[in-house]
Amino acid sequence: MLEETIQRTKAYYCLECGICTGSCPVSRYHPDFSPRLMVERALLRAEGLALEDREIWSCLTCGTCSARCPSLVDYNEFTRSTRVAARKDGHPGVDTHAGTVLAFMELQTKGAGERDLSWIADDLRTSRKGKVLFFTGCLPYFGVVFRDYGVDAVGMANSTIRLMNAAGVRPVVSPAERCCGHDPYWTGDAETMKTLARRNLRMIEESGARKVVFACPECYAMFKLVYPDFFGRLKFEVAHVTEFLAASVAKGKLAFGEMEGTVTYQDPCRLGRYAGVYDEPRELLAAVPGLELVEMPRARAEALCCGSSGWVSCTRVNKRIQLERLTEAAGTGASTLVTGCPKCNIHLACAARDGDIDDPIEIRFVTDLMAEALGT
Ligand code: SF4
Ligand code: SF4
Repeated sequence: MLEETIQRTKAYYCLECGICTGSCPVSRYHPDFSPRLMVERALLRAEGLALEDREIWSCLTCGTCSARCPSLVDYNEFTRSTRVAARKDGHPGVDTHAGTVLAFMELQTKGAGERDLSWIADDLRTSRKGKVLFFTGCLPYFGVVFRDYGVDAVGMANSTIRLMNAAGVRPVVSPAERCCGHDPYWTGDAETMKTLARRNLRMIEESGARKVVFACPECYAMFKLVYPDFFGRLKFEVAHVTEFLAASVAKGKLAFGEMEGTVTYQDPCRLGRYAGVYDEPRELLAAVPGLELVEMPRARAEALCCGSSGWVSCTRVNKRIQLERLTEAAGTGASTLVTGCPKCNIHLACAARDGDIDDPIEIRFVTDLMAEALGT
């Protein structure tokens, strides 16, 4: 299996240049972690890369190393593949929050139960069938789990619907929706992802939707980049909410009121390096009169990851990466760090509340800010 991974990820082209390790945010704080050495060990030992090794769970799959590798080694896929092998070898995987988050994702493969939609605010318009569907992902669940972190994930879902309504769309929100499978997939459990994906594809077909809009870049990247590999070309378009809203502004269907302030923007790894969406979130922020965007030194393809992924690890290393990013954001002089991903919000808010930073920058999800700029 490792031999196949080496072939598929082009690991055999590795030049041992070390650019990956030099670029890696984990290696910076955890000297024992080196993507170059992981590739080398795989090449040397073919069937023997230590699958019980803690280090295969340290990677954030942020894509920074792969984006810079001169040999185009796909280190994200290398990591995912070794995790699949480790799981097959009996490794239980690792996860944070006592396994709660991954457990509720896996639980969504069971039974035919319907999701509760009572979290949708009374003044919002949604439907059960229609041309545009809002895929909420796990936001309603995160609302419960991360309430104490000062993160209002349900509010993020509601502000997304509010903006879609303002753009003249009454989106389908389906009680038959399931988790997209991102976290199981990236932690080596492709079977759970496939079960969830089949249910989601059936749900979307039955809704009649021709376009699916996502608040979460991880859900979006799964549909855009992973589902087609397993299920063929999708029969509908996909768009991150920032793409959908920026297009609505360009068509004159959506406009914002004046809002004073300076913000900086966190490019999520899945939206940026994975899906190549950099301009639309910035166009959207630029559509608010009075709002100024200042960039962090590391932005777009160079952006630093929010420090966690897939609920795999939450160690001192993850926290140091998050604090580094919060310090960089505050250094721009902006009063608010706008994220394009609810999970970036959760991870960065968690680091900000830990108290190692004196006056943390305010962190807001993009649709929360934009809904406020509607002035309704
Ligand atoms: S950047 Fe690419 S070629 Fe260089 S050591 Fe890393 S995997 Fe090998
Ligand atoms: S994907 Fe990111 S965290 Fe993983 S080895 Fe590459 S740079 Fe490091």
